[in-house]
Amino acid sequence: MNADTTQDMFYDIAIVGGGCVGGTLACALAQAGLLVAVIEAREPQRVWPAGSVDIRVFAITRASERIFRAIDCWDAIERGGVSPFRDMRVWDASGPGTIHFDCAELGEPTLGYIVEQRVIQAALNARMDMLPTLTRLCPAELGAFELDNDAMRITLVDGRVVHARLLVGADGAASRVRGMADIAVAVRDYQQEAVVAVVTTEQPHQETAWQRFLPSGPLAFLPLRDGRSSIVWSTTPQQAAELCALDTPEFLERLGEAFEHRLGRITAVEERARFPLRRMHATHYIAERLALVGDAAHVIHPLAGQGVNLGLLDAATLAEVVLDTRAAGRDYGLPGNLRRYERWRHGDNHAMQRAMDGFKDLFGSPARPVQWLRNAGLGLADRAGPVKQVLARHAMGLAGDLPKMARPSAA
Ligand SMILES: Cc1cc2nc3c(=O)[nH]c(=O)nc-3n(C[C@H](O)[C@H](O)[C@H](O)COP(=O)(O)OP(=O)(O)OC[C@H]3O[C@@H](n4cnc5c(N)ncnc54)[C@H](O)[C@@H]3O)c2cc1C
Repeated sequence: MNADTTQDMFYDIAIVGGGCVGGTLACALAQAGLLVAVIEAREPQRVWPAGSVDIRVFAITRASERIFRAIDCWDAIERGGVSPFRDMRVWDASGPGTIHFDCAELGEPTLGYIVEQRVIQAALNARMDMLPTLTRLCPAELGAFELDNDAMRITLVDGRVVHARLLVGADGAASRVRGMADIAVAVRDYQQEAVVAVVTTEQPHQETAWQRFLPSGPLAFLPLRDGRSSIVWSTTPQQAAELCALDTPEFLERLGEAFEHRLGRITAVEERARFPLRRMHATHYIAERLALVGDAAHVIHPLAGQGVNLGLLDAATLAEVVLDTRAAGRDYGLPGNLRRYERWRHGDNHAMQRAMDGFKDLFGSPARPVQWLRNAGLGLADRAGPVKQVLARHAMGLAGDLPKMARPSAA
């Protein structure tokens, strides 16, 4: 590697984006002794008002819990506040079809946890600050990068230069790393937006994740630890705009009707926000001395709350591939060695995206025969124990070809 200026910094791995996925990867690599730089544009949120809830919450799978345990973050996340959910109830607005998942049936203590994004981020930031071989460059923004012999030369917007054997794009759906590397993406615009908010219901949420499929899209109620619920209401952009513009009493009324008042009246709502929904998949996850993880590589419909969970599996897998390659004395920046990561994760992520598309299209269809079939199918799946178990175990991250950090023995 050539040192061009006195400002130049040298690392094994440089990660652009220190969000949930980039932060997790950084910890996994740095705790194994690699020199890691995390380039993050946004200053972290360190404090927030007591009693407030982040508008962004994630349904975290058991596999993700294990990954956080493996990087020594889970205790801090638990201290920050997690809300276990033990039941999941899914039903169709156009008929009697319903399916119920219960953690006891699966022999597990929970199905997963609802966790605020800022709680995970704070735990990751604290862990990153403790690791001596990890440097957080923040605020710092990616300017450009180029191959420079056996390394990637990365220039930040403020002129600093970072050299690394591998550059990882963990910079989210609008990834500049992906764009600058000219990696193509396949996109499906769902023509939908998600309205998210925190609401108070008359009755307790019963540690249950609720989801009703409406013709315009799914409506989810996720249980929060303070007894309130976080909603994700996927619908047409027109209806989303309308819902956000409604005054509070009207919004509460519309939401209650859409949810069939399953938890009684909805009595309060906090700030409402809208997110456009689309599927995106990069054709490649790797190039010479470059890899993509998380939303930089794939964006999925939030109906099963899998987005960040898939990203965490990417992070755990890439860490495993890099560490195995290094242990074998080989160069982990070469495409031939990175390909194992791409092969491992691309197919799995694609399959999950297709499954979510299948659900979305099946439940979005107004055709009578399709409505009948899906209601019958839901009822059948609910009664067919083994089918239900397979579905649930995959969604919880308890089945499939998991990286070591996500396997039960790592917990
Ligand atoms: C409405 C909705 C609900 C969702 N619910 C769930 C759920 O329940 N469960 C779930 O698993 N997923 C859910 N998701 C998906 C989840 O939000 C994403 O999958 C997840 O946030 C992706 O994490 P990431 O770290 O890959 O990217 P991001 O969270 O986007 O992080 C990228 C980071 O990179 C930084 N960055 C970007 N560009 C640069 C640059 N040029 N230089 C330096 N830094 C840069 C950013 O500041 C940011 O910190 C939901 C999504 C939506 C829209």
